[in-house]
Amino acid sequence: MGTKKITLCHKRNDCIGCGSCAMLSPDRFSMNIQDGKADMKDGQWHGDEFVVAKIDEDEYDLNKQAAAACPVGIIRLD
Ligand code: SF4
Repeated sequence: MGTKKITLCHKRNDCIGCGSCAMLSPDRFSMNIQDGKADMKDGQWHGDEFVVAKIDEDEYDLNKQAAAACPVGIIRLD
């Protein structure tokens, strides 16, 4: 445990602020009260479109659920 080998990617600009990811994976996603979009904790911007974080294997399942629930399909795990 503890090795961060999974990449979580959020195409933040396309977020429609439904809140599903923050509900399913609250340790990683929260809703931004300024613009209503999801923020990824410890995420770093890669260019203008994507916020990316390395996550632990024990976070995989919840974030996979978040990715599956996202209505615009902008959360990816690799
Ligand atoms: S589930 Fe998708 S659209 Fe909904 S808040 Fe999260 S990233 Fe945004």
